[in-house]
Amino acid sequence: MDIINILPDSVANQIAAGEVVDRPASAVKELLENAMDAGATQIDLVLKDAGRTLIQVVDNGCGMSDGDARLCFERHATSKIHQADDLFAIRTMGFRGEALASIAAIAQVELRSRLHDSELGTAVVVEGSRIVSQQPAACPPGTSMAVKNLFYNVPARRNFLKKDSVELSHIEEVFRRITLIHHDLGFSLTHNGRLTYDLKAGSMLQRICQLFADSYKERLFSVEESTDILRIKGFVGKPEYARKSRGEQYLFVNGRYIKHPALSTAIERAYDGMLPDRAVPSYFVSLQVDPSRIDINIHPNKTEVRFVDEHALFAILRSAVKKALGQFTIGAELSFDTPPEFNIGPAPKGYIPQEPKISYDPSYNPFRATPAQTKLDLRGASGSEGPSSSGSTKRLFDADTDTPDTLDTLPPVETKAQCLQLQGRYIVTGLASGLAVIDQHRAHERILFDRLNTSADLRPSASQTLLFPVNCQFSPADADLFAELTPDLRNYGFAIEPLGQCTFVVSATPADFKEGELQTCFDQMIADYKGATMQRFNNRSQSLCASLARQMAVKPGQPLSQEEMQQLVADLFACPMAETSPSGKRIITIVKPEEILR
Ligand code: ADP
Ligand code: MG
Repeated sequence: MDIINILPDSVANQIAAGEVVDRPASAVKELLENAMDAGATQIDLVLKDAGRTLIQVVDNGCGMSDGDARLCFERHATSKIHQADDLFAIRTMGFRGEALASIAAIAQVELRSRLHDSELGTAVVVEGSRIVSQQPAACPPGTSMAVKNLFYNVPARRNFLKKDSVELSHIEEVFRRITLIHHDLGFSLTHNGRLTYDLKAGSMLQRICQLFADSYKERLFSVEESTDILRIKGFVGKPEYARKSRGEQYLFVNGRYIKHPALSTAIERAYDGMLPDRAVPSYFVSLQVDPSRIDINIHPNKTEVRFVDEHALFAILRSAVKKALGQFTIGAELSFDTPPEFNIGPAPKGYIPQEPKISYDPSYNPFRATPAQTKLDLRGASGSEGPSSSGSTKRLFDADTDTPDTLDTLPPVETKAQCLQLQGRYIVTGLASGLAVIDQHRAHERILFDRLNTSADLRPSASQTLLFPVNCQFSPADADLFAELTPDLRNYGFAIEPLGQCTFVVSATPADFKEGELQTCFDQMIADYKGATMQRFNNRSQSLCASLARQMAVKPGQPLSQEEMQQLVADLFACPMAETSPSGKRIITIVKPEEILR
């Protein structure tokens, strides 16, 4: 008995469709690409329920004739290539004639299209690959493709869709990848009746600012390089804005978003030695290469590419970014303080350190002490400035005889011991149990975490009102997230009110907060929140609190005065968990007296 049968077209189309369209975002990508291939200058994307109910793309491109408006839904129907050789000179986004056939197999599609020189357009309705109707229609020149009820006839796929917020974030990512590189076209995105993006044609930097936030102007610097085999144009992030989570990293080749781990590494390598641990820079980099030097056999739906000259591209890209960074940092040295180098020198012979005097300095408040704590201003022999005095070195080695306590029983305020700052990152101070080397950033993180974590009513004067309220801006997607977080933030002493869709006004912050860092702090907080990097905490407000403490804490490399260090040490030892930071990292290392002797 014969057991082979030929699948009916409808079934074959549905199966094939799964390769092209696996979720609303992939249909969005195909429709946007078609609109661009049609030469549109304005493209509007309208969504309902994250694309589940409706994905509509309206363009002002060339439009289609009556015949083409029917034909375009056939498999292998394309106007973009005629013979296999054309593949080597492909300049359009699509060329396989598969997208519309696939979409039509798994949705109800309504197409309205009009050629620019026709009086009247045409309206076609297709359902599950079947043309249901076609009629003349009055419509503007260009094409509107409305895809309704995606996967209506493929329940298995429909059931695999994630919740709306997830599907929408996939669509938004597709939208960003396309609109970033096609900044010379106008785009809009409307979801459930709300206009989320309205992007005017402009430069790439303008587009980045429209998509993310205006502040990106200050966070990026431009990279440009032109060689025989590669042209580079784009923007890379200043090192100080690098984040711990892989966020805004966009690489384009010949106008397409691609993923290419080696080229991404090339960009990141250019930052060697400039970024804190595990931080990654943002970048928006567009490469132009001779299309014949790219392996075209790679699936057009995938974002992977292979290059003939990969090694050369790697080297050129890395040095171009390095060069740009170099120019940027030379400029930066003129305008930013660099932490003073610190070398431990021996104390001058016969040097006798002066006893510290206690005085109160009301204007000084780098680490806000709760009112219960007394502010001690211990001006030692080295004066209040800086670590580089040899006097404090001498003092340091005397210190352990002054402080007969062990680490465990150390009283909360042991501010008498002099502190030294080492490499701008560590505070070295003497304890009876040895020499304590304290990571200044982690220590402060712990202190702030504990303070923020104290419930608001037990935290007096937790908030400081800003003289001038500060506006913080987010991308529409981030703004939604931020709105979710504001109740928690208010708990920590922020006064935040929404102002329009993507802007929030901050009029008060926790008392320890440096207001200049609001935007950066919130951005990082959102990135942390998205990346769920803080899963070790059992609830959201704990992880938020940890993220906030990390942002607010003194940075490695920040010079600290003697008082600041002493206050930090005192506050740290007042914390029940002084030895580990909120993210579980070690704060203190003790070098034992025996080890010092040795
Ligand atoms: P491909 O893009 O690979 O050619 P598609 O299935 O995406 O295949 O589209 C089939 C054809 O339909 C295209 O080649 C093009 O001629 C036509 N088409 C699709 N979308 C549009 C549009 N928005 N405007 C004009 N023509 C379009
Ligand atoms: Mg296409």
